[in-house]
Amino acid sequence: MFAQTIQQFNNIRSLQVIRKSHVLQLSSLAVVSTLFEAFSVGMIIPVVEYLNNSKDPDGFLRYLESVFHFFNLDVSLFTLCAVLWFMIFVRFSTTFIMSVRTAQVKHYIGRALATSCFENIITANGAYTGSIGSGTFVNLLDHQCQATASLVSSYVTVFTIILTAFAYIAVTVVAAPLTSLVAFVMLGAAVFLSQKFIKRSRAIGSDLVKFRDGYIHYIGERYRAWRQIKLSNSVVQEVVEISRTSGRFARMSVALVAQSSRIPLFMGVGLSSLMLLGLFLAGSYLDLKTSTIPLFLIVMVRLLPTAQGMAAQRNAIAIYDESLKRVALVMQEARESKEDESGDRTFVSLKNAITFDGVTLKYPFSENAALKGVNLSIPAGKITAIIGPSGSGKSTLVDLLPRLIVPSGGGIMFDDLPHADIDLMSLRAGISFASQEVVLLTATVAENIAYGQINSSRSEIESAAQMAGADKFIRDLPKGYDTVIGDSERQLSGGQRQRLGLARAILKSAPIMILDEPTSALDIETEHAVMLAIRELPKLKNTTIILIAHRLSTVAKADKLVVLRDGEVVQEGAPSDLKAQPGWYGDMLRISGDGLSQGFIDQ
Ligand code: ADP
Ligand code: MG
Repeated sequence: MFAQTIQQFNNIRSLQVIRKSHVLQLSSLAVVSTLFEAFSVGMIIPVVEYLNNSKDPDGFLRYLESVFHFFNLDVSLFTLCAVLWFMIFVRFSTTFIMSVRTAQVKHYIGRALATSCFENIITANGAYTGSIGSGTFVNLLDHQCQATASLVSSYVTVFTIILTAFAYIAVTVVAAPLTSLVAFVMLGAAVFLSQKFIKRSRAIGSDLVKFRDGYIHYIGERYRAWRQIKLSNSVVQEVVEISRTSGRFARMSVALVAQSSRIPLFMGVGLSSLMLLGLFLAGSYLDLKTSTIPLFLIVMVRLLPTAQGMAAQRNAIAIYDESLKRVALVMQEARESKEDESGDRTFVSLKNAITFDGVTLKYPFSENAALKGVNLSIPAGKITAIIGPSGSGKSTLVDLLPRLIVPSGGGIMFDDLPHADIDLMSLRAGISFASQEVVLLTATVAENIAYGQINSSRSEIESAAQMAGADKFIRDLPKGYDTVIGDSERQLSGGQRQRLGLARAILKSAPIMILDEPTSALDIETEHAVMLAIRELPKLKNTTIILIAHRLSTVAKADKLVVLRDGEVVQEGAPSDLKAQPGWYGDMLRISGDGLSQGFIDQ
């Protein structure tokens, strides 16, 4: 148990979100509230003594009298009650402040954790960020971070309870040592026995956290697959499946509540019986006096919920522990896979070429390398098209350029600048990238095009959209450029989304432009128009364009063709030269008929 607690503290510390000032504040509040609780409970004895025999004070009342005299107070029923009232007032006020402060600290920690988790994951290298999965990511930032923050309030409560218990022990030991001994041995036994329940809760809590991760992933996936579900007539099957899965989730959650609720049941009935027995024994055989009986009754009444609270909090700590472990693990992994921003060379523009020298890339958790010793030169200011069957490593190759992923071996040079030495901000500022999949955020069309380029004027946005062949359909939207779109497929077709992605890249117009299958969902005419526009754009005159495309008609106009197969460059050169050579490109041209401009590369 202690080893676990220490491990937990280390995990909490590794999150780097706990402030010393918070810990100090909360513990001082706990100490003050506990002291006044002990004083006010302890005051019961002198009050009873005073009522019994006010003329001849003895025991507690005598000590109290000297304290009262020190403050220039007379001992009377009125002053006794007034002091008692003051102590109760201070105790409850501090408890109130402590509850509010604990909640504030808890939410501060929840927020700091979620922010730090997001930042760490998003600044990790692309291979790690991509491996998290959206279900896990959402669950982590929402539920797990909150649960971890709740641990803090549980610890504050436990600390207060322990202090309170010590205070009670002190007060009652002074009043009636033997009775206290019996009472606290019983209490200790009860807390020890509750251990069994807590162990079981921990196990259920841990299962639940794991299950929840998978569950969120599962439901997200079912929504994304709605089209497939309808088309393959598997609605009934999926409804049964989701009911089964959510039923399992519900059963596990209920089991956890039932398990947690057994603790108050056990502690409530068990402790009350023990205490009544103790009171009976103490009253009959031990050192319990009339004046201390009220004290013991009060201690009993106050201690019972406290002991229950202790068990409940330890139970909660066991349950939250799984979330804490998960958050701590992801934070640590993300920190360890942090992308290297450290380069001190600034990239401004490309003069000669990008060269790949023996570049290999292996994704984590995958058997084979996606790139196997790629040697390649991409000339500046020209269009280089990369073609090859799907899975041959085209996207991987271009993802290397903005350092979304880093090579496992070999090196890349931008002219005579080693790619790894370039400052990450300047590198990414120098590359405009239209990805295979266009991600749109919930914002207006104009904001989506200008994402990351907030200083663009409306006319710049519109002219980029025009060049991407998007202007017309945007103007047909209900509010034109101010129409709010989101990432749901509802509003825009695949081709329209691609045109927005292209408009984004054109608006940025960096010295290097990467287009990863930017036109695959466009019809041939639009694609032609777009490609012509990109080529002819005066503002893209000196841009180095790297284009991944499937249509032979598109790539035939490139200055240079690179054919990738199984992560290796198998052919490179001018399209007209490659056409005559034996090899994949020539084969594809022949398969697609006469090799005229309408051909596709089929796979
Ligand atoms: P292409 O763009 O040519 O279709 P990719 O570069 O996307 O090919 O993929 C090349 C290879 O790397 C494929 O075998 C693919 O399965 C694998 N791959 C791509 N992305 C990942 C990833 N994030 N993790 C593991 N393997 C990946
Ligand atoms: Mg690809």
